[in-house]
Amino acid sequence: MKVVLLGPPGAGKGTQATGIVERYNIVHISTGDIFRKNVKEGTPLGKQAKAYMDKGELVPDELVIALVQDRLQQDDCKNGYLLDGFPRTTFQAEAMEKLGLAVDKVVDIQVADEILIGRATGRRVCKKCGSTYHATFRPTKVEGVCDECGGEVVLRADDEEATVTNRIAVYHKETAPLVDFYEKKGNIVHINGEEDAAVVQEKIFAALD
Ligand code: ADP
Ligand code: ADP
Ligand code: ZN
Repeated sequence: MKVVLLGPPGAGKGTQATGIVERYNIVHISTGDIFRKNVKEGTPLGKQAKAYMDKGELVPDELVIALVQDRLQQDDCKNGYLLDGFPRTTFQAEAMEKLGLAVDKVVDIQVADEILIGRATGRRVCKKCGSTYHATFRPTKVEGVCDECGGEVVLRADDEEATVTNRIAVYHKETAPLVDFYEKKGNIVHINGEEDAAVVQEKIFAALD
């Protein structure tokens, strides 16, 4: 199964991805996670991506497409994949088609802008294992310490309010047109992402089963 998770920053893509990949035995490919890893390791790709990410802008299409093309050719993708955060522009979606990278289903997680700001600014991420928490909705047992690995749990550099506001604007301008793009292909489902994470999960499973 080849699935795309679509939704604005803070919609709950990463949160929902964990259960989806487990249920369908597919690999989770988050372009945001891949970029953050490269930034942390100071690779050439990370150095190119960092300035865009810090401002809440999109990394140029060519860089992202090359990265995803390479990743999807790896052996673990044979059974299917969940793309989280890609494609993010019509150009990227069209490039996928040209490269023959299939999409069976698109899950569009919908959340109103006012809610997104609180979700993203409250998001806390483990520096060591990447687990995601929320200061109010999903706190760690011990403040600042990851439940999973004991690592330090911090605010993501691009989750400061001004940057989040820009990322939401970029979503509406660059990514929201993809809803229409996949609507025309007839393979998109819309999920209300404002409910409890567990309820959202059940609705996604019902749509994908
Ligand atoms: P969120 O989970 O908040 O939606 P991501 O972790 O997916 O954010 O992405 C973080 C940043 O990484 C984006 O703001 C952007 O700079 C960059 N990025 C990730 N995926 C893409 C993509 N497909 N195209 C362009 N930039 C991307
Ligand atoms: P995305 O990957 O779409 O940017 P995340 O999955 O990282 O979004 O979620 C953003 C923040 O909102 C995280 O702190 C997460 O714990 C929290 N969150 C996710 N889903 C829900 C939900 N349904 N209700 C409340 N908070 C949520
Ligand atoms: Zn951790």
